Amino acid sequence: MSLKGKVALVTGSTSGIGLGIARALAAEGADILLNGFGDPAQIESLREGIVSSFGVRAAYSGADISHPAEIAAMVRQAADELGGPDILVNNAGVQFVADIADFPDEQWDRVIAINLSGAFHAMKAAIPGMKARGWGRIINIASAHGLVASAQKSAYVSAKHGLIGLTKVAALELANDGITVNAICPGWVLTPLVQKQLDDRVAREGRSLEEITQALLSEKQPMTKFTTPESLGALAVFLCSDAAATMTGAPISMDSGWVAQ
Ligand code: NAD
Repeated sequence: MSLKGKVALVTGSTSGIGLGIARALAAEGADILLNGFGDPAQIESLREGIVSSFGVRAAYSGADISHPAEIAAMVRQAADELGGPDILVNNAGVQFVADIADFPDEQWDRVIAINLSGAFHAMKAAIPGMKARGWGRIINIASAHGLVASAQKSAYVSAKHGLIGLTKVAALELANDGITVNAICPGWVLTPLVQKQLDDRVAREGRSLEEITQALLSEKQPMTKFTTPESLGALAVFLCSDAAATMTGAPISMDSGWVAQ
């Protein structure tokens, strides 16, 4: 239980990768502030599941990460209800797929607000407390798309490249405050965000889900396997450990070989 006594705020943790990371940090003893959208009864059962499975405290904030004032209130809630946050995982993210010439302005603004500006506002709100306590871990969930591009993902690729830049700046600013800042760059993970892209292609291309899944994986990844939220959770736990105390400013790939090409 290496994280007992620490408080972790994981944005977008009602689903997918964020939930996997929240559960992995809780398994190491961290108290958790969950955040994200969804059915209130299901979210309450996720929260209760974390409390009963891991014996930690867990609370929930419904803050919309596209609204800076709600982010600040969420960080205050973490401090008031749990103490902390000592660990901030900026994970909330959305996707929109279209050519630049057809990309709706409001979707550009939405993707940048949630995937990039949200991380800035959460870091701005959480850093003073981490500095005061002399310890902190900030983990930004970027993507292989933070390092390389794909067509039709202008807002997402721009936000994720920006998030890696933001990670490096924060790492420099906090280098001697006991706070590390790193970015995790996953390849394909089978979550609702990717399931929607698969379903859209099945509808558009008229091939089976199995064929489209194989195509999606093999177009980008030498290893045609999904990364799991559990593996990413284990990587986040490592980044919070003493062994990773000097690891900072790094984009860390777990992407089935995507960016090795
Ligand atoms: P997901 O759709 O399963 O989960 C997204 C989470 O973000 C949900 O909890 C959702 O409620 C929350 N969210 C969305 N908009 C929000 C908002 N405005 N305010 C608060 N919460 C909001 O997606 P996922 O695949 O688990 O993605 C998580 C992160 O991982 C994203 O940043 C994504 O870009 C990144 N990522 C995903 C993959 C992949 O293949 N799935 C690969 C690389 C990076």
